[in-house]
Amino acid sequence: MKQGHEFPWRRRVLAAVMAMAATLPALADDPPEWSAPVKPFRIAGNIHYVGTQGLAAYLITTRDGAILLDATLAQNAGQIERNIESLGVPLREVKLLLSDHAHADHVGAMAQLKRDTGARFLASEGDRWALENGRNEGDNNYGVMPFEPIPVDEVIHDGQTVRLGEVELTAHLTPGHTRGCTSWSMTVDDRGTPRRVLFLCSITVAGNTLVGNKTYPGIAEDYRATFAKLAALRADIVLTSHPEMADVLERAAKRDAGKADAFVEPGLLSTLVPDFKAAFEKALKEQEAAERP
Ligand code: ZN
Repeated sequence: MKQGHEFPWRRRVLAAVMAMAATLPALADDPPEWSAPVKPFRIAGNIHYVGTQGLAAYLITTRDGAILLDATLAQNAGQIERNIESLGVPLREVKLLLSDHAHADHVGAMAQLKRDTGARFLASEGDRWALENGRNEGDNNYGVMPFEPIPVDEVIHDGQTVRLGEVELTAHLTPGHTRGCTSWSMTVDDRGTPRRVLFLCSITVAGNTLVGNKTYPGIAEDYRATFAKLAALRADIVLTSHPEMADVLERAAKRDAGKADAFVEPGLLSTLVPDFKAAFEKALKEQEAAERP
């Protein structure tokens, strides 16, 4: 792995993200960057960014319509819809809606997107209850963050492939952050080169109760199994629902400045996973220590 692919400031950003993720749920208001507009852009092949500065939404176009992965906050619905249309995709051309996990910052606008596109919404069994009831599930330190419930049209299972047109997405259940956290993978034609893309579900602890979680008792075991599972996956391009976690916007800027393969970093996943696993183990130790009499 050449050092040239490394982003030297990535660790600093990662530290900031982890600090932010740990404290955010306690804030009364959402961070302004979560709604700050970004001009939609192509990442690679048929994968486009249609999210905001701080929350990702990915549009995958196919010959038979488009797939939207994540919708961001409820108040961003109009912005995400305009972003999709600005790429020349009418809303009714969006045929499939997917999410990485059932938290308000990623699916808050999904119910409106579903109404306005008429698309089918596919989700994992683990997140189904939360999605259909419009609230996060599992004990945590920030309580309930409600969102408009989204009817799940079809439950997807681990390893299942979802097809639309020439695109095939594979679901990888990576629970922990939520019970049904789902990472998705596909191959993209990047200027003639096939690249493995992983849309990585959140792997932060982010206020989750890891010890004695009554509504999600297996949470710590799930996190560990997810880290092991992700350590075995390979990806040339990693895309995250909080874009700063994979430097998505910075990579776009570098690409526009002439670095054609700015999104390609085959070593990124194997750097992210141990970093977040270490953060998880530290949080687990702290929570265990706090539980001791
Ligand atoms: Zn989340």
